[in-house]
Amino acid sequence: MNPYRVWAEIDLDAFSHNLTAISQRAGHGVGTMLVVKADAYGHGAVALAHHAVRCGVAGFGVGTSAEALELRLSGIQHPILILGTVVDGEVPALLEHGIEIGLHSTDRAERLQIHGHKAEQIARVHVNIDTGMGRLGVGPSKAIELLEAISSASNLELAGVMTHISSSEGALDPRTSEQVRLFNETLAEARSRGLTLGKVHIANSASLFTGISPLHDLVRPGISAYGILPGDLPGAEDLKAILSLKSQIVFLKDVANGAGVGYGSTWRATGDHRIATIPVGYNDGVSWKLSDRGEVLVRGQRAPIVGRVSMDYTTIDVTHIPDVAVEDVVTILGEDGDDRINVEEIARIAETIPYEITCAVGRRVQRIYTGGEDLMVTPQAPGIASAAPSKEVRSESAAPTSLDEAEVRT
Ligand SMILES: *Cc1c(COP(=O)(O)O)cnc(C)c1O
Repeated sequence: MNPYRVWAEIDLDAFSHNLTAISQRAGHGVGTMLVVKADAYGHGAVALAHHAVRCGVAGFGVGTSAEALELRLSGIQHPILILGTVVDGEVPALLEHGIEIGLHSTDRAERLQIHGHKAEQIARVHVNIDTGMGRLGVGPSKAIELLEAISSASNLELAGVMTHISSSEGALDPRTSEQVRLFNETLAEARSRGLTLGKVHIANSASLFTGISPLHDLVRPGISAYGILPGDLPGAEDLKAILSLKSQIVFLKDVANGAGVGYGSTWRATGDHRIATIPVGYNDGVSWKLSDRGEVLVRGQRAPIVGRVSMDYTTIDVTHIPDVAVEDVVTILGEDGDDRINVEEIARIAETIPYEITCAVGRRVQRIYTGGEDLMVTPQAPGIASAAPSKEVRSESAAPTSLDEAEVRT
C-alpha cells in the first residue's frame, strides 16, 4: 500500500554521478556553481543543495531573493548568487545574509551602494555582461564604466563577472564564438585597467558539454546536474536521469463502445475498454498537452493517456494490461520493468523543452530522496560511529569559505 497519491523519486546517487561528470568535464581548478533556481528545476532545492555541498560544489545560483534566502536559512553557508537581478525592497535581507547579487547597470549599482552604506554592509556583486543574450546584462561598451564604479564604491565588492550564452547548442553555434570573443575582449580591457574581476564564469550546461573555452573559474550547470541535456548534444551518455514521477490507480471503469472520457469527450471508446483514473493532473506536472497523446507505464507496459488531462486527475487506457488493479503503481516519468519514459520524450510530445517538464512538478507532489548514503556524514565520536546517519547530520558538512577551496569530490 503506497501512502502517496503522487510522488517524485529523486535519486541522489545519480545526482552525485552527474556532478562528477560535470566536474570532470570542467577540469581541474574550475569550480561548480550549481544552478538550483525554480526549486532546483522542480527537484527540491534545499535537499539537493545540501547533497551537492557534500559532493563538493563551490556555490549555488538561484533565480530570486526568496530562493536565495530559503537556501541560506536551511543552513547552506556556501556562496549563493542571484543570477538575474533583484528589486530594491529585497536588498536589506540579502545583505544581512551575505547573498551575492547579479548586477547589470550603474543605476542598480548605485542603489546597492546606498543600501550597503545604510546597513553598513558590503554588497557582493557579479557583473553580468550582455554579449548577445539580449536580456539582463550591461553591454560590453558600458561594462568597464560599471566595473570602475564598483571598484570605487565603498560598499560594493566585485565578486565575479559573468555572461550568459543564448544558444542551446552552446559552442556548436557560431553565435557563441562571437559572445566568447566579446566577453574575453571586455575582460582583457578591464584587466588592462588594473581591475580585479573575482570569479569569472560563462558556461551553462549546453556550453560546458559542447566544450566552450575558456571556462574561466566556475561553470554554472543546471539541467545537466539533473541528468538532462537541452537538445541533442554530445555527452548525454555521461549523465543519469534522477527524477521519477509516480502515482497509483484509484479507480477502474469498463466503458462500452461510444462512451466519452473526460472534459469535452475528446476521446471515445471504440469497442469495450477499461479506463483507469490516476490522481495526478496538470497541477502535479502532467502537462495538459499530453491529453490524448502521452503515455504512462503500468505493470511494465505502456498505457495511453485518453481524454483530457485535468487539474487533479488523468485517465489512461489499460484494456490490454492483464490483472490491472486499483493501487497499481503508475509511472509517468521513469522506469518500470524494461521500459522507461524520460523527460526528453515527454517534452517532445508536449512540444516544449525538458526544463518546463521538471519545473512543472507541482507542490502537491511528495518528494522522496533515495540514495546518497555514501556521502552522509556519520558521527565521529567513538562508540557512536555506527549510528545510522540522520537527515540532521547531513547538513553539517563544512562549507568552504571561498570558492577556491571547493572542488567536486564524489
Ligand atoms: C539557468 C541558468 C543557468 C543554468 O542553465 P542550464 O541550461 O540549466 O545549465 C546558468 N546561468 C544562468 C545565468 C542561468 O540563468
